Amino acid sequence: MADLMEKIVSLSKRRGFVFPSSEIYGGFGSCYDFGPLGVEMKNNIKKVWWDEMLKKQNDIVGFDAAILMSPKVWKASGHLTAGFADELVECKKCHKRFRLDEIKKPSGCPDCGGALTKPKKFNLMMKTFVGPVEDEAAATYLRAETCQGIYTNFKNVLQSMRMKIPFGIAQIGKAFRNEITPKDFIYRTREFEQMEMQWFCEPKTGPKLFDYWKKQRINWYLNLGISKKNLRAKEVPKNELPHYAKRAIDIEYRFPFGWQEIEGIHNRGDWDLSNHSKHSGEDLKYEGYFPYIIETSVGVDRSLFAFLCDAYTEVKGGRTKTTKSAKELEVLLKLDKSLAPIKAAVLPLVKNKAEIVKKAKQVYQILKPHFMTQYDEVGSIGRRYRRLDEIGCVFAITIDFDSLKNDDVTVRDRNTMKQKRVKIKDLIECLRKQL
Ligand code: ATP
Repeated sequence: MADLMEKIVSLSKRRGFVFPSSEIYGGFGSCYDFGPLGVEMKNNIKKVWWDEMLKKQNDIVGFDAAILMSPKVWKASGHLTAGFADELVECKKCHKRFRLDEIKKPSGCPDCGGALTKPKKFNLMMKTFVGPVEDEAAATYLRAETCQGIYTNFKNVLQSMRMKIPFGIAQIGKAFRNEITPKDFIYRTREFEQMEMQWFCEPKTGPKLFDYWKKQRINWYLNLGISKKNLRAKEVPKNELPHYAKRAIDIEYRFPFGWQEIEGIHNRGDWDLSNHSKHSGEDLKYEGYFPYIIETSVGVDRSLFAFLCDAYTEVKGGRTKTTKSAKELEVLLKLDKSLAPIKAAVLPLVKNKAEIVKKAKQVYQILKPHFMTQYDEVGSIGRRYRRLDEIGCVFAITIDFDSLKNDDVTVRDRNTMKQKRVKIKDLIECLRKQL
């Protein structure tokens, strides 16, 4: 399994999904950049989630709050107190720092066996200064979760959109946590993106709605092709609940390094609205009560990683018949077509025949405004298929000698490798139907 991790990291770099940040300067602690294919895939994940929330579900509106907020928000939310801190221990010998809850035997350093310091609380909020003077009056924090901007705007949304309880607010945006031990590629980083939906409801309906959202969210992953055996929901024990939660489940994915959370579902009770009322002096009640909040919160980067792991398939013995040795493996990225970064690639069968190249370039121009399309004329056709399979490109469209006579192309399906001839004039419609 560790092997799979290496393969995903290597594929991500080689084919333009994910690069280490500031690489030419030796990298920068656990920060990553998304390459041309990575950004497409990320955008696709966000679009599918947004459509799920705003088009498929009822009574949800969108939102986009500022990353920087008044520090008063973070005081009210409990993030500046012990509530949002991990316990940190340091090795007295090698000075490495660890999260206490991640060490199996907290008696010695996992790296060198040295003695550990007593645990101390380490707040995860990232401090920054707003304006030209770096003093405490100018200090604020990069948001550690996107949802606080939603709670502080509860009234604004309620009134401007004439919403009635129950309803939801969805938001996608960056969040920052000064994680003690960022690790496992893009699984745990200090800067990441969240997709969060806050569902405001009557307190007594909370438990039922919690179950509803749990089911919806699990189905979302299954419908996007995540295999059932790699997905599970884990009830968070009472003594491990986040400071704001009455109940929580983690949706976990079986990563190459074990089962780990990709999404949290929380019943936040009236923690947020009542605390913001208390601290701001603004009455955030609705019809005399504080609505409960059921939250679904998923990391874009983490889910992208899970989608990559789940889609990664190796086919023994030469699927595309270009593999020299029968033992060689071919890689197929079976991403759901809605998530695949490239939907179609246009390939002239040969590159030394001017009419074929010309026609292929015309077809590319026809498809490009409608689908994320690549043009590729380098290497044998089999090699090009292999490259496309490796990035999960859904359709490979080849222009051959017959295309010149018949004004048609062959369309090859990534998963089945079946090919069919389609008239160029019908191509957009044909792809659209299948995508
Ligand atoms: P963990 O226990 O892994 O630290 P958490 O329980 O603190 O996560 P939540 O606060 O519930 O996480 O955040 C919701 C989601 O945001 C997580 O399920 C995850 O997908 C994403 N997320 C949280 N922290 C990080 C991080 N450091 N890097 C990448 N994604 C993150």
